[in-house]
Amino acid sequence: MATDAAGFPVTRTPAGVLRSARGARDLAALDARVSGCRACPRLVGWREDVARVKRASFRDQDYWGRPVPGLGPADARIAVVGLAPAAHGGNRTGRVFTGDRSGDWIFAALWRAGLANQPTSTHIGDGLELTGVRVAAAVRCAPPANAPTPAERDTCSPWLARELELLPQLRVVVVLGGFGWTALWPVLAEAGYRLPRPRPAFGHGVEVTLEGPRGPLTLLGSYHVSQQNTFTGKLTEPMLDAVLGRARELAEPR
Ligand code: SF4
Repeated sequence: MATDAAGFPVTRTPAGVLRSARGARDLAALDARVSGCRACPRLVGWREDVARVKRASFRDQDYWGRPVPGLGPADARIAVVGLAPAAHGGNRTGRVFTGDRSGDWIFAALWRAGLANQPTSTHIGDGLELTGVRVAAAVRCAPPANAPTPAERDTCSPWLARELELLPQLRVVVVLGGFGWTALWPVLAEAGYRLPRPRPAFGHGVEVTLEGPRGPLTLLGSYHVSQQNTFTGKLTEPMLDAVLGRARELAEPR
């Protein structure tokens, strides 16, 4: 597989994403392959433009300007799945949900739930460690207006499907927002789970349990930690804490 200047394996087509994701043997290999992906021309152009132009307050920083891999250990029993990296958050720092207001919310909540060693996440090397949880995005590149197209969502889905397969103890997926909820169904089908018909509608606190190749997996819906929700009070800290508390309860070994 060809590599780019940074040494990441390069993927250029949707078929290549599927092949490359399925061939990743562990999370480290998957993260490297995600980081070299160029399969969605619109998103590649946008993420790299943002990284070149920068926001004035970050003009002295080198932006990542690539797809953003997941974060967290392979023995995670809980996954948290968001929408996509923010242009000046994950696309700048290179770590999921890191360096923006949404990240402040989710990592503080993970810390309160005992799943992170600190409540803040500012940059790679800030000491953040997750325990029992893996955090990832349904779409790995920052999209214009935070809105990937359905085709981009589908092209990216094999990365998340493989990531879930590479978490052998996974029992619970906390899905942040309706986009992630919709994006997750084909991902779960790809990962071998039997899907309910009709698909349950997204809502905060909605809980759905599926049967899959490694036993039951419960999906928990939560409103997204976007500023639109947290500034307006649609999502409060107690609401998010309740969902993560339920996730912890469901993830306990039986
Ligand atoms: S959105 Fe996903 S599939 Fe598309 S270029 Fe980024 S990492 Fe690749």
